[in-house]
Amino acid sequence: MDARLEAIKDTVLARNPGEAEFHQAVVEVFESLGPVHDRHPEFLEAAILERLCEPERQIIFRVPWTDDSGRVQINRGFRVEFNSALGPYKGGLRFHPSVYLGIVKFLGFEQIFKNALTGMPIGGGKGGSDFDPRGRSDAEVMRFCQSFMTELYRHIGEYTDVPAGDIGVGGREIGYLFGQYKRITNRYESGVLTGKGISWGGSLVRPEATGFGTVIFTQEMLKTRGASFDGQRVVVSGSGNVAINAIAKAESLGATVVACSDSSGYVVDEAGIDVALLREVKEVQRGRLTDYAERRGGVTYVDGGSVWDVDATVALPCATQNELDGDAAARLVRNGLVAVGEGANMPSTRDAVAVFQEAGVLFGPGKAANAGGVATSALEMQQNASRDSWSFEHTEERLTEIMVGIHDRCAATADEYGDPGNYVLGANIGGFVKVADAMLAQGLI
Ligand code: GLU
Repeated sequence: MDARLEAIKDTVLARNPGEAEFHQAVVEVFESLGPVHDRHPEFLEAAILERLCEPERQIIFRVPWTDDSGRVQINRGFRVEFNSALGPYKGGLRFHPSVYLGIVKFLGFEQIFKNALTGMPIGGGKGGSDFDPRGRSDAEVMRFCQSFMTELYRHIGEYTDVPAGDIGVGGREIGYLFGQYKRITNRYESGVLTGKGISWGGSLVRPEATGFGTVIFTQEMLKTRGASFDGQRVVVSGSGNVAINAIAKAESLGATVVACSDSSGYVVDEAGIDVALLREVKEVQRGRLTDYAERRGGVTYVDGGSVWDVDATVALPCATQNELDGDAAARLVRNGLVAVGEGANMPSTRDAVAVFQEAGVLFGPGKAANAGGVATSALEMQQNASRDSWSFEHTEERLTEIMVGIHDRCAATADEYGDPGNYVLGANIGGFVKVADAMLAQGLI
């Protein structure tokens, strides 16, 4: 890493002790930014990096609620409003027991660059709670969401901060959160949240967008080598919203998706995952992959283990951070991997990224490859602002344009900085320069 940046990084790490995921996200970005600072010493003078690493505002709050047996439960809520240079803070809410400030900050930090890359007017933020929706009744989830919003409402708004979903927060949770916001504020402010239901201000394609976008981005990478998804053997990790829609899109382009996973194990389905059945099991019944394996028949379910033990030519990690390590990456490379598109945020460890890049594997980092979700959230905001709703076809066309645009911008930036095909460099520099220019223009704030 560039010595000037190394010193700034050391200060950031020391100022944010114990936040390993945030440190990892910062280091990954800093490693790309040396050449930008050679060309733009004004960024150093204005302390753009130091400011970028310090969230504009961090909110931590108590979330009390009662479970179905009448017992009081206490969770911790977070919203990190990281950077508003390009627009209102924008980013999802994650409800998962692993959530703490370091996770929210890594996600918020990534979101700044991701949102910049979309070309849409959105800043970066993220939030969530250590609440675990798994195994909770609808009524418990509703009471939790209502309590969470009873504090959050005062910090958000269509011109201030626009949350959406992430792990553990889907259409059901957004519905309860929106209802409580509306009740407290007495405003039908559609643009305050995205990922809403289609009949009350949501956008078509938003549910599919992250998974679809990841595959579109990966397809663009494959095209640079004269290849496509047609005939690829694909492994996807996860089986939530992002994974399911990545599987659907990859299969529609002629790939065979042979495996996917959940937190208990993974399924190998050599004939290709049956997406309709997977949707029914996961989205309608809120079931597990064991239920899929049982109903599908003739497939292998592996309890525990790693889905990355399954050979693939294309890997789409769509589960969670640091799920794919250096050893797994080396094994995949040995067995013929050609491309990786990150549907999750930071799913590959730094070792894994190094292995992929050294082996010449096409590697699309999450902040570029999975930007289709938040980009379509911005399209939802656009429809809300104009009180309009677009067709599926039109919205999907916009999503495709945006993803191809992100790919091309990352590739062009990598070329410009002398490292063709390095999408990590392209995404980090491309996102950073846009935000840095805006921060410079807006003065010392
Ligand atoms: N949580 C998603 C992400 O990681 C989407 C955020 C949004 O739509 O605001 O980008």
